[in-house]
Parts: sequence; structure tokens; C-alpha cells
Amino acid sequence: MNNQQIDQRRTAAAPRGVGVMCNFYADRAENATIWDVEGRAFTDFAAGIAVLNTGHRHPKVVAAIHAQLDRFTHTSYQIVPYESGVALMERINALAPIAGPKKTALFSTGAEAVENAIKIARAHTGRSGVIAFGGGFHGRTMMTLALTGKVAPYKIGFGPFPAEVYHLPFPNEVHGVSVQDSLDALTQLFKCDVEARRVAAIIIEPVQGEGGFNVAPAELMVKLREVCDANGILLIADEVQTGFGRTGKMFAMEHHTVKPDLITMAKSLAGGMPLSAVCGRAEVMDAPAPGGLGGTYAGNPLAVAASHAVIDALVEEKLLERSVQLGARMQEYLTEWRERCPAIRDVRGLGSMVAAEFYGADGQPSPTLVAKVQKEALDRGLLLLSCGVYGNVIRFLYPLTIPEAQFEAALVTLGEALTAATQADAAVAA
Ligand code: PMP
Repeated sequence: MNNQQIDQRRTAAAPRGVGVMCNFYADRAENATIWDVEGRAFTDFAAGIAVLNTGHRHPKVVAAIHAQLDRFTHTSYQIVPYESGVALMERINALAPIAGPKKTALFSTGAEAVENAIKIARAHTGRSGVIAFGGGFHGRTMMTLALTGKVAPYKIGFGPFPAEVYHLPFPNEVHGVSVQDSLDALTQLFKCDVEARRVAAIIIEPVQGEGGFNVAPAELMVKLREVCDANGILLIADEVQTGFGRTGKMFAMEHHTVKPDLITMAKSLAGGMPLSAVCGRAEVMDAPAPGGLGGTYAGNPLAVAASHAVIDALVEEKLLERSVQLGARMQEYLTEWRERCPAIRDVRGLGSMVAAEFYGADGQPSPTLVAKVQKEALDRGLLLLSCGVYGNVIRFLYPLTIPEAQFEAALVTLGEALTAATQADAAVAA
């Protein structure tokens, strides 16, 4: 069955709301390569949306899943628990940059982790308000949609959302928003919309993912921590996309001097298996009553086994150092391009969380140009993902395990795609 035949079946069988980016279908994958059902190979700079920091089918991950498969696949942790789950929570507690004693709860998806972090924060503080950021993305369930700071396409037609969620602008130099603007908006919020003592938590991505790989300035984190401490508010770092090596540290909050009270994590935590977690200060985590947290599949044993192997691989193969090196090379390459290509307005990132922002010849953010670069790259066998509030940013999410030669070859391909797309754009503008 070829790609086109499967695509016809998909259109009939699945709702259009589940948007699909590629018109080819995966057959198999290995490290940084995906082959489609017609045998074409693609270098994967999407990594299952930041899930595969350790690559497709990392040998340690595959072996760990196999070993667990032969023992048991599901008991429901809340019914019959298992030592591997306890050990993973211990490992996450030891790794997470949170002050004092810590506890961790396991779930399945990023959105579930965020939902539960909010539940925990509300239970601990006895307050209901939550402050999030414009351009932020926290998931597709009702509460996480309320927190998400981007209407199209996520929120359209789905409201009303849970109440008492407020948004602040996220600092963004390219779009002219300073740290002071964000802090002024917070002061204004406390004045006009909600008193600080009704607010349970401020939730922030240390680097906005879907919002465009915007790095939160250190000064903002320090100030948010101060505001939280002064008002009994909890600081939640949503590290679903930034976690497990992507920014050159296990957690992006390790780049900051201040610490959050809770961290949500998912994606690369289990190298392709559905697993998420909330780690937090022990007294905060213990606020919900027994039975208040959990889920049938939460902490699935296959996913837990995979996660142990992911953490082993990150440490044993020095993938955090590799993340820093690859990220520096990626930024250097893109910065050279920016110097001779006015369409690239900005190159930014932290570790291997790197992105380039595109503007058209008309001086406006250009999602069309991004789509052209993606198409030209895909035609040459390189899979790229976009992001950004205007959809005008390309993010580069290669596995940290990508072989050097494949990485360099992908940069050459990217250069060809950029040339083809920007020349076509300039021709249209002229
Ligand atoms: N938070 C952040 C920062 C994310 O990037 C995402 C997913 N892109 C989520 C939450 C939601 O994760 P999931 O899709 O696994 O529910």
C-alpha cells in the first residue's frame, strides 16, 4: 500500500481536527532516520515533537522495553505497584532542580502532568487562580487549553474553559516585549483582575516550545520567584518540551539561579513511550488526599523501563555535552545564514533547543516562507517542524544521538532548502 492510498483512507477514517503534517507514512525508524512505506529515508529533525532526544529505538531503550515486556505490561500502579516505578520517582527526585525534599507522581501525557500540577498547587494553597503566559502551550485538555496562550488553532470552538486563568505577555525582544513589560502586566493584573492571595500558581515554560523557542530571561525567573515568595504563590516550570537534555541540562531550570516549586515533564522522559511526571517540593506534592492523583495507565511499566534507559543513555553517553555542542553548531550555522539572508530575522536557543524566525520581504512574520522551507527540506529528505505565535519559526529538534556526518549532511540540505525557498520568496516580492 503506497502513501497516497493510505492518505485517502486516513481522510475518510479520521477527523480533520487531528491535523497531520506529512503526506507520507512511517514504516520504520532508527536513531535520526525515518523510512516511509515507499522506502524513502528522512532525517528526522522533528523527533516526534521533542520526544526523541535519545533517538528512535535507542538500543538501551529497546532492550529495557523488551525485558519488561517479558515480565508484565500493566498492573495499574495504583492497584499493584512495582519497584521500577518507585526507583524512577527516586531518580527524578534526585535530578530535579527543586529545593529541599522532593516527591514525584507519574502520569502519561504532558497535558496530564500540567493538569495535575495545577490540582496539586490548588490543593496545597487552597487558592484557585493560575497565571500563565501569552504564546505558551500547555496541552489540549480543558485546563491546559485555558492555560495555553494561543487561540488558533488550539482553542477555537472549545470554550468555555475553566475560570480564573490569567495571561501575561512573555518577554520577546523580536516582538518588542521587555521583561519590564511582563512585570508591569503582572502588577496591573493584581490591580485590575485578581488579588495576589487568590492566585495558586504561576506556570511558565523556561523556553517556550510551541510559542517559538523564546528563552525566558534569567531576570524574569528571578522576579517571578520574588513575586511568588512574597505572595505565597507556587512557581511551576513546564519542562515538557525543555526537559531531558534538550537545553544542554537535564532540566532547563538548571540554567537559572532560582528554583520552581513544581516541574512538569513528559516527551523525552521516556524516549517515545507515553510517560509524564510532576516533581515538586514534598510538602506541596502531599497536599492532595489519597486517591486524588493517578490514572489507570499512569506510570505504565513499559514506559517506566524505557525512562530508566533514557536517563542511563543521557548520562552514560554524555548527551548533555553533545546537546551543547550540537546546539552551538546549529546556532553558528544559522547565524551565518542570518547574516546573508534578511528573511531570517532571529536565531536563538538554549543548548539544542534552537530556532530561526522568518520574516517576508514585506517585513511581516512569514509562515508561508517557513512552509516553503519545510517543503523544500522535505523534498530533499529532511523533516523540519515549525512553531511560533505566527507560525513563522522553524525549530530544530534533531535527536542528540544523531551521527555527526548525518547532522552535517542535514545542515547542507537545510542550506539548499533555505536557498530555494528564499529565492522563490524574493522573486515573488520583486
Ligand atoms: N507542555 C508543553 C510545554 C508542551 O510542549 C506540550 C506538548 N507540545 C505539552 C505541555 C502537552 O503535552 P502532550 O501533548 O503530551 O499532552
